[in-house]
Amino acid sequence: MQFHPEKCRIPDEPNRPFISSEEIWDYINNTKSTPERVHEIIQKSLDKNRLTMEETAVLVNTTDPALVEEIKEGARELKRRIYGNRIVLFAPLYVGNYCVNNCVYCGFRSSNKEQVRTTLTDEELIRNVEALEDDGQKRLILVYGESPKYSPEYIAHTVKVTYATKKGKGSIRRVNINAAPLDVEGFRVVKEAGIGTYQIFQETYCPEIYNEYHPINTKKGDYNYRLTAMDRAQEAGIDDNGLGILFGLYDWRYEVLAMIRHTNHLEACFNVGPHTISFPRIKDASGLNIDKKYFVDDDTFETASRKSTAAPTCRLATTNTTTRKRKRTATSRRTKTCTASSSRSVTIVLWATSSTSSSTTTSSRASAPPATVWVARANTSWNSVCRASSSATAPRMPS
Ligand code: SF4
Repeated sequence: MQFHPEKCRIPDEPNRPFISSEEIWDYINNTKSTPERVHEIIQKSLDKNRLTMEETAVLVNTTDPALVEEIKEGARELKRRIYGNRIVLFAPLYVGNYCVNNCVYCGFRSSNKEQVRTTLTDEELIRNVEALEDDGQKRLILVYGESPKYSPEYIAHTVKVTYATKKGKGSIRRVNINAAPLDVEGFRVVKEAGIGTYQIFQETYCPEIYNEYHPINTKKGDYNYRLTAMDRAQEAGIDDNGLGILFGLYDWRYEVLAMIRHTNHLEACFNVGPHTISFPRIKDASGLNIDKKYFVDDDTFETASRKSTAAPTCRLATTNTTTRKRKRTATSRRTKTCTASSSRSVTIVLWATSSTSSSTTTSSRASAPPATVWVARANTSWNSVCRASSSATAPRMPS
């Protein structure tokens, strides 16, 4: 598939920052939502065309309840047309929670001295993978904090151990990773291990808010290094990437547009958009000391997720412990066994657009037959790694 990316205020070049906050706010502040425009844009999305920044801004500016409902229904219809009712599960497996960073909202932050730190040994990793295979899981995402312990070689090792672990007829077909941004050489090392999707969330695309929550003297404090991580991954040959934002840190409308801007950047530079885009949402917890004015309520959360119809060729993910009833029902039907084993479950729903094969390129993904809806629940390793997170904020998906 050949993408036709927009020309934006900061020209797209590989490894160069591309976010202009002024441009994003101009779209939000100067775009009006009318019924005619909304209908036109819904139809464009139903025809499986990616929306422009301006069209996305029309959707995020829509407040009329009837029109919002039409947008949601359009998104449901798009999902039905592409994915039907098929569901695929994947499970996050937390390998370690050592972290040199100090993200204000995260229980794994280095200043949280009450956090017990754990890295699974190979034996523990194998036991966890076997338990997941017993649950019938076929796809995992391995998650790591940011620490010298979790070098590219170590990550590659854990990926290989996971693939090699087979119990009975069980096996893991696809190992995705969620790890700190690497340099090009590091990305080459993890690619060699045969990873599926490399996932990293920007958390917030607003540079000022980013600096507020990610202290500048930490590794994660470098906004641009994180922003260009996917460019380095592409340079290393990893064309299967997952973007994400953490709703609740900043204005959700800005974040949605910024993530579409990121999608545009990848398409412009590499002719490959993200494989997934994710929407975790921060919620109140003991010890959480952040400004709550940007928190997103359930209705807005659902609406914001559905406005991501702007990128119909991406799998969309929501991470939330209070997903709406319709999704919960689908999830519980397919995850009976894991639900019983996890008291800290997280639900991730990914709307897939195409084949789940780890070897498909985005070009083929975009034109391949529609396939799946993905749902994942946290598993026993989440409990292992997080078992002593009694104080401060709830642990979240690291890095
Ligand atoms: S969000 Fe990730 S990088 Fe930040 S403190 Fe938590 S584990 Fe570390």
